[in-house]
Amino acid sequence: MKTISMLIDGQPVVASQHFPVINPATGAAFAEAAAGDATHVDAAVAAARRAFAGWSARPEGERQALLHAVGAAIEAHMPELMQLVTLETGKPLNGLGGVGAGMEVGGAMAWTHVTADLALPVEVIQDNAEARVEVHRKALGVVASITPWNWPLMIAIWHVIPALRAGNTVVLKPSELTPVATARFVELANAILPPGVLNLVTGAAGSAVGPALVAHPGVAKIIFTGSTATGRKIMASAAASLKRLTLELGGNDAGIVLPDVDVKAVAEKLFAVTFHNNGQTCACLKRLYVHESIYEALCAELARLASQAVVGDGLLPETQLGPVQNAMQLAKIEEFAADARAHGGRFLCGGERLPGSGYFYAPTIVADLVEGCRLVDEEQFGPILPVIKYRDIDEAVRRANDNPNGLGGSVWSADPAAAAAIGRRLECGSVWINQHGAVQPDAPFGGIKQSGIGVGFGEHGLAEFTSLQTLKIMKS
Ligand code: NAD
Repeated sequence: MKTISMLIDGQPVVASQHFPVINPATGAAFAEAAAGDATHVDAAVAAARRAFAGWSARPEGERQALLHAVGAAIEAHMPELMQLVTLETGKPLNGLGGVGAGMEVGGAMAWTHVTADLALPVEVIQDNAEARVEVHRKALGVVASITPWNWPLMIAIWHVIPALRAGNTVVLKPSELTPVATARFVELANAILPPGVLNLVTGAAGSAVGPALVAHPGVAKIIFTGSTATGRKIMASAAASLKRLTLELGGNDAGIVLPDVDVKAVAEKLFAVTFHNNGQTCACLKRLYVHESIYEALCAELARLASQAVVGDGLLPETQLGPVQNAMQLAKIEEFAADARAHGGRFLCGGERLPGSGYFYAPTIVADLVEGCRLVDEEQFGPILPVIKYRDIDEAVRRANDNPNGLGGSVWSADPAAAAAIGRRLECGSVWINQHGAVQPDAPFGGIKQSGIGVGFGEHGLAEFTSLQTLKIMKS
């Protein structure tokens, strides 16, 4: 069985205990990872602090060149990394609509290169006979990165690369459910980066590693992607030392379908943006509002697509949807389904686990629900979609906005300009027209309301890893 070490100050670090990493397609462990503790967090933060002076002082061009080399290393190890991502997440190698481990590793590579090329220009506010006033962006120090299990490698890249690009050093803590591909990435990067610049600490479920990292006085900033519940705890802990925070939290994204769409064509797109990665993506479509005039036709089409989807082990090339990533998540989906039944939900397909030892659940479409049940009000994070009927568009917008989450939203119509005007009324950080969840490395992405604080990607995202310093030079 593969054993995953931590990596601190450029050196592999083993622990006296290990915890198993489960392949969700089989329910059996395929690797074990070092069960770190607070002493490892102390060592990693100390190493990152030592490395900070040299790394932040390095000319930008050198940091950029090293990050491009990291991108090239990811590319050179693509098949191996894809295999690891599939084994630990269950995500298919190819996946529904091409959203699978290949996209995760390819995206990790693309984000690395695009982010390496981003600039942090000096802004000149004033330059006259009296004075020159410049605004500089400075690295913060040690960044703590805490990642979830749904896109483990991609999200590690989203955290680590902009942090390093801006001149910070990093201590990364992956989810206990998916530390394997991330550990391999950190190993590859450490063959390129100076020791201490990027450190990895792993901890078992419920261990002291996450809380110790968040509370550590040597950490300047936390970037966290995960559930809103954990985000709240992290924000509370960070308050003690006023750490900077970026929180990318849960979502319950609404999509609104106008009556003028081509039902068959739009159903295929809606199915893909809802069910890829089994719905386990923060910006998957999670509540679908459909105009009453096309409601039954669209429900039937979505149910047809869900029944035909190929569910299986992600290592098989034909698999479109793999297992749910973990047993707790599967139990939550079963609870949501039971609650939906109790609230009069009409199950058009699925609604049950599939046989076998893996965590498989049949893709499920539920009609006739309204707000007031868990499947509509909360984030399901699984392969089960509530399709909700609406009569007029103001009502649909109001119901879509009547939720504590505010990550993304979408409007689907034959008239993109009219749809964009409606989309602008949605209370969320990203709006897509005739698309959902499509992120890119040069455009900001983040949540409002309880979906988070701050953004990632592009220059806006890079700026979050810096503080502003105003420099005023008197000329007379
Ligand atoms: P989670 O909150 O359970 O865990 C995330 C990470 O936090 C893990 O590494 C975990 O070990 C760590 N952690 C748990 N308790 C901690 C504590 N007290 N202190 C410090 N660290 C702690 O989330 P998850 O179940 O792994 O991820 C799924 C959630 O992530 C979903 O809600 C999803 O919407 C969200 N998500 C959001 C985005 C986004 O960009 N907004 C992207 C992906 C996932």
